[in-house]
Amino acid sequence: MTVIKSIVAIFMSFLMGVFGSLGLVGNVSDDFTEGKYKNVILLIGDGMSFNTIAATEEITGIDLVMNDMPVKASSDIDSFMNSYTDSAAGGTALATGVRVINGTVGVYPFDLLSPADINVPMNLSELAKANGKAAGVVTTDQTSGATPSSFSAHTFARTNEGQICKDQLNSDLDLIWGGDTDSITKKKAEAKGWTYIDNEDDMRALKAGSRSIAQFNYDDLYNCTDEYNTPSVEEMTKKAIDILSADEDGFFLMVEGACIDKNAHNNIMEGVTECTVEFDKAVAAALDFAKKDGETLVVVTADHGTGGITLNEETGEYYFTSDDHDTWDVPLFVSATDAGFTSDTLVKNREIPVQIARVLGFDEKQFPISK
Ligand SMILES: [Zn+2]
Repeated sequence: MTVIKSIVAIFMSFLMGVFGSLGLVGNVSDDFTEGKYKNVILLIGDGMSFNTIAATEEITGIDLVMNDMPVKASSDIDSFMNSYTDSAAGGTALATGVRVINGTVGVYPFDLLSPADINVPMNLSELAKANGKAAGVVTTDQTSGATPSSFSAHTFARTNEGQICKDQLNSDLDLIWGGDTDSITKKKAEAKGWTYIDNEDDMRALKAGSRSIAQFNYDDLYNCTDEYNTPSVEEMTKKAIDILSADEDGFFLMVEGACIDKNAHNNIMEGVTECTVEFDKAVAAALDFAKKDGETLVVVTADHGTGGITLNEETGEYYFTSDDHDTWDVPLFVSATDAGFTSDTLVKNREIPVQIARVLGFDEKQFPISK
């Protein structure tokens, strides 16, 4: 067994050498202070390309707050040996600093060949908890969706909802909020010590120090409308910050705006722009807190763009050129210039969480790491 583990470790080092690790981080600047920030809020617009943002501003006439952040850079979206990513591999790169095979969540590529209970890369939520901080995951997708799962679960298949929900229920995160799934029930959540909620009123009533799982009744495409006593992504973000910031050691929060991608897959421009505006309100809430708090870094990015949104130069109109994910680089906006991210640079997606871990002051040896 030890021999096998050594072989796996050597193979892993080889892969990390070839496909990236701390040592190969090249596009993040050294000009930052380790441990400078106590809290990080990472907001992921699922399916949000630069043109999604441009189209939203053009069509709605709204100047998006995120488009005005101090650092405006970009990130690539590569998954393991592939320049196309799905939200599982895209989310995992952003959560763990490791590029993985599309469709897998929080597991190394070569783990597919191994039996269960092998090494898995630690994600930012787990790392925050291991360092005494609070951690939370908020999404407008189902809580078992690929992006929230990347920050709270480990499984070979994003479709393995049972495993994802089991991992989430067994996790020590402080909050996991999003759309409902079949695998998380009030009974199961309470058995594991969670406060279970399923509507906005109950969310508002939550107290700092509580650990909660939310299963809201979101509509797939227009979940940003406020129909069924469910909170918007902005409202969830505000409340999550309220709860997590009560931890004196700081916190990590991931917020996903999921319906940008869902509308783009269906080529519904109005839905895309509406959901992008909703997502931007969550960014604004995070920035408001960061400004008041002074110790919080806000990072906004996407796992990939969707729909190939393109500008028709003649008519000035934006239109869809696909119903699938783009291969283009995506936006990376940061709330401060002293966190190692620089405007007009292109970083690798997997560099983002590694740099977040650094500015939070985590030991470099901890990340990316197997547990
Ligand atoms: Zn998608």
